[in-house]
Amino acid sequence: MSEPSDRELGDIDLGMTRNITRRDFLNGVAVTAGATLMPWHLLAGDDPQSLPNYYPPALTGLRGSHPGSFEVAHSLRDGTFWDTAGAPQDTGEVYDLIIVGGGISGLSAAHFYRKTAGANARILILENHDDFGGHAKRNEFRVGKRTLLGYGGTYSIESPEPYSTVAKSVIEELGIDVASFPKYLDRDVYGANGRVPKIFFDKQTFGSDKLVDDPCPFPGGETYDLAVPGPDAWAHFMAEAPIAEQARKDVARLCREKKDYLPQLDAEQKAARLARISYSQFLTEHAAVHADVIRLYQSVSETLFGVGIDAIAALDASDTGYPGFSGMGLTTDGLDNERKYFFHFPDGNASIARLLVRMLIPQAIPGNSATDVVTARANYARLDEKSSPLRIRLNSTAVRVKHAGSSGPADSAQGTEVEVAYARRGKVYTVRANHAILACWNQMIPFLCEELPQAQKEALASATKVPLLYTNVLLRNSTAFHKLGANAIYAPGGYHTNVDLDLPVSIGGYHCSRSPEEPAVVHMSKSPCHAGRSAREQHISGRMELYTTTFATLERKIREQLARTLGAGGFDPGRDILAITVNRWPHGYAYEYSSLWDKFVLEGGATPCEIARKPFGRIAIANSDAGARAYTDEAINQAWRAVGELKS
Ligand SMILES: Cc1cc2nc3c(=O)[nH]c(=O)nc-3n(C[C@H](O)[C@H](O)[C@H](O)COP(=O)(O)OP(=O)(O)OC[C@H]3O[C@@H](n4cnc5c(N)ncnc54)[C@H](O)[C@@H]3O)c2cc1C
Repeated sequence: MSEPSDRELGDIDLGMTRNITRRDFLNGVAVTAGATLMPWHLLAGDDPQSLPNYYPPALTGLRGSHPGSFEVAHSLRDGTFWDTAGAPQDTGEVYDLIIVGGGISGLSAAHFYRKTAGANARILILENHDDFGGHAKRNEFRVGKRTLLGYGGTYSIESPEPYSTVAKSVIEELGIDVASFPKYLDRDVYGANGRVPKIFFDKQTFGSDKLVDDPCPFPGGETYDLAVPGPDAWAHFMAEAPIAEQARKDVARLCREKKDYLPQLDAEQKAARLARISYSQFLTEHAAVHADVIRLYQSVSETLFGVGIDAIAALDASDTGYPGFSGMGLTTDGLDNERKYFFHFPDGNASIARLLVRMLIPQAIPGNSATDVVTARANYARLDEKSSPLRIRLNSTAVRVKHAGSSGPADSAQGTEVEVAYARRGKVYTVRANHAILACWNQMIPFLCEELPQAQKEALASATKVPLLYTNVLLRNSTAFHKLGANAIYAPGGYHTNVDLDLPVSIGGYHCSRSPEEPAVVHMSKSPCHAGRSAREQHISGRMELYTTTFATLERKIREQLARTLGAGGFDPGRDILAITVNRWPHGYAYEYSSLWDKFVLEGGATPCEIARKPFGRIAIANSDAGARAYTDEAINQAWRAVGELKS
């Protein structure tokens, strides 16, 4: 929501000082229950992950890029790291392959490598966060004896492109039966309870706080095909939405009429035109909607594209199935593909990461199926054992990757091995290997790997990540949603633009919240963007915003937003909020090329990601940036390519 003044908030008790799981704040990190959930970067000792109570999924407070995970990388970027780092200590460890980055791409690279090199291949994965999985992040909440799950990043198996054969084969090897998803989805939870999508109009943007039925929910949200408008949604919207009457009529026209807004052009000309204008321009200039429609829809694309409708191409909006194009004879492949191959675990694609880890290090995660993994507790102490050929070392930021070796000139692609230096808990160590795969973010690579050609470094540096906040709030119950008849709320003026109850998925031993009286996790998402600038500029300023916003500020905004949105349903933030986990992703989605901002999309020529991902001697590059696509299948595809490029 645009900033309300203190006077406007005056009568709302946000419950900042009363809370049954009241947290102590340490450097912006909330700790729910004493030392067992202590943030690891604050603990003494060299190897926190071997502690028996090391269990990051249960940490609340600021997660995602959590304190302790990014400082080393930033000092490397700023050129100050080596001033104080001291001389690296040689661990003496030698591997066949070192992988930088323990996200789905890094884990998949280990899996592919073992297919050819065998199960005894010695592999080390270095990961700077305190957990594996990268953006595939699991959030756990404990309420009494019950565990509730949330997705802290990657939400589901889905893709606007057809899922690649390579990625599908990994999904199948992991035992995930994508076609079986409907059987785990409990449609009655929303349907029988009459919970439907809503829009929250806030006073600062629209003149009054009002929750109104959403008659035309945009696809690409996180409610799959449960985002079905209520039976009276149009009547409710037309009577209640606090926007101009003309704007309400325009919304109805956009969503319900099959009208061709560019009748003079053939399909090819239409696509060419729509590729060059924003969705916002299309709505204003071609669909001629009232300005209130733009205010209503400005943020609707943020969680999917990381920017508002001012910065996405109208053609991409059309492909995603946004309103206004149904009479224009264009295809909506993206939407069709997403619905064809879809699976949502309660912790999102963290289940994929956990299944990969189980395949690589069976002793670390008990069980043997893609359904029992949902409730399996990972044993982090088993991830980095000397006796295991495959090791995952957390809290370890790679700081230098270079060729070395006695028979070739040092610091060139001719070396006979690769030396990787990494920082862990204030010290720097070196490890060596035959090969390295950099499955970390492209922007990091030029700072790690000085040897790379300048043109490649520039291409790598251009991969600006999209910043995002994925917040999970544990609620005592969801009665307020029930009373208000809501399951997913779009908040165009909200700090978080979406407030959703998760898809009701019960799988293996995991049972979702079914009745309104049960505790529930509400998911809130935000993309910090600043309309009027290019997409890249918005991502850069949004990233700064995320790094400089404290957890205390975020908590206040979350409480205020939930209080105002759900207040009419009896919601009391002090009583009803039991825990908050904010997954902060300043470096979120891979940057996807746009016909609005990236000339080569229309003009052709090599894309930066093709130049960026070239192998260099014994080093190959994986991760989703390498394909400029923010999807899990791309992370897997790029791992496959990188492993194939390693020279023996
Ligand atoms: C909030 C969010 C929601 C998403 N939702 C979906 C979705 O619903 N469906 C979908 O298909 N895709 C989704 N994506 C995209 C998807 O998550 C990614 O494409 C995929 O998980 C990326 O995997 P990756 O291994 O390439 O990168 P990452 O998951 O980012 O992993 C790379 C890892 O490398 C680490 N690293 C970086 N530098 C270093 C270093 N120097 N030393 C050690 N480690 C380092 C990073 O910290 C990170 O953990 C989402 C992404 C985000 C951010």
